[in-house]
Amino acid sequence: IPVLAIIGRPNVGKSTLVNRIIGRREAVVEDIPGVTRDRVPYDAEWNGKAFTVVDTGGWDPDARGLAERIAAQAEVAVQAADAVLFVVDATVGITDADEAVVRILRAAGKPVVLAANKVDDQRGELEAASLWNLGLGEPYPVSALHGRGSGDLLDAVLDALPEAPDDEDEPEGGPRRVAIIGRPNVGKSSLLNKLAREDRVVVDDASGTTVDPVDELVELGGRTWRFIDTAGIRRRVREASGHEYYASLRTGGALERAEVAVVIVDASQTLSEQDTRIISQAAEAGRALVVAFNKWDLVDDERRYYIEREIERELVQVAWAPRINIAARTGWHVDRLVRALDTALEGWETRVGTGALNAFLGRLVSEHPHPVRGGKQPKILFGTQASTAPPTFILFTSGKLEAGYLRFVERRLREEFGFAGTPIHIQQRPRE
Ligand code: GDP
Repeated sequence: IPVLAIIGRPNVGKSTLVNRIIGRREAVVEDIPGVTRDRVPYDAEWNGKAFTVVDTGGWDPDARGLAERIAAQAEVAVQAADAVLFVVDATVGITDADEAVVRILRAAGKPVVLAANKVDDQRGELEAASLWNLGLGEPYPVSALHGRGSGDLLDAVLDALPEAPDDEDEPEGGPRRVAIIGRPNVGKSSLLNKLAREDRVVVDDASGTTVDPVDELVELGGRTWRFIDTAGIRRRVREASGHEYYASLRTGGALERAEVAVVIVDASQTLSEQDTRIISQAAEAGRALVVAFNKWDLVDDERRYYIEREIERELVQVAWAPRINIAARTGWHVDRLVRALDTALEGWETRVGTGALNAFLGRLVSEHPHPVRGGKQPKILFGTQASTAPPTFILFTSGKLEAGYLRFVERRLREEFGFAGTPIHIQQRPRE
């Protein structure tokens, strides 16, 4: 979601204008502990296009004079935003502080929309016209208070904002796309056969006289699911050499098209490096993830003990993934797959509202500040969830957050909002 930053001197009517844009009265007076009101982003929508509005005003407590404060504001805005809405009071005209802001905005090259506020009548239109002198193009005369001109202004804002990127390459809707992956002989085709409720002959025909469908549609839990590249599971690669190579190509291709991956491991054997590699591959591809421990019928008490140790040791980085124990050959607990898939997909598509996210971040920052480094205190200013599938967060920061702190933020995000079964991406956009 594109970010629009609003800047301008105090009392030019920014807050009133923000209220106009987000179309809510309570938003700006809303008090969220730990986060300065000015830095809270708001969800906005105009003509069906969603964007985030950030009022960057007065964020820098260190800046002394008004001019410094405005300049600091402009810098943050320029860092954080895709476009800037610069609000000037038309009844006052251009001030030195405004000129300073223009220099910063020009240097940054971000798209700028200029709002001439407090234009309540005809006379005001004339005053607004004088703002052409700022060299930022057409000033949009508005009356934030009365709503005059705000439609045209918002149209200009939409033009300035980039299109939000599509979350997915594949069309939305239709059956969920599932990839069954795992190293050879863990039971992928056994599971597929059970799910498809018919024992098919494994196609073992390298000459390719049979043309398999690449995907299979399977009814599960009253819904249809698309299992990706099942032909690749059913068809055996005969040569022993290169087997793993082709298997990993298949895995990559299937992940590419899938929304959720079911990684099968053989519970009767020690977790291998190849198992953990495939699990990481799925998580790194940004897919929802379920881990299935197959051949559970072969697991005795002793083995069970070791499995728990292996999970703690090898699978910590995907501790969030739902795990199911199954026996594909007999069908034992295979019905639990649907619930695990639903859990993972739900986490994958979870969207946290901007208000809730920043209330959480505010608490986190005040309760667990980033350690001071080189006399500086890196800090999260605010955040926004840029996309789902997988959930991707952008944190606007002053200073650069350490990897350890980012992992901590991820852990706390999971505690607060769930995200079972999905990797989370966190990007930071530091000010410096
Ligand atoms: P794939 O290479 O991952 O597709 O694995 P297969 O489905 O071909 O299974 C490999 C072997 O494991 C076959 O001999 C299966 O009969 C066996 N197998 C699959 N699932 C189970 C299970 O739940 N329990 C047991 N004991 N054996 C299984």
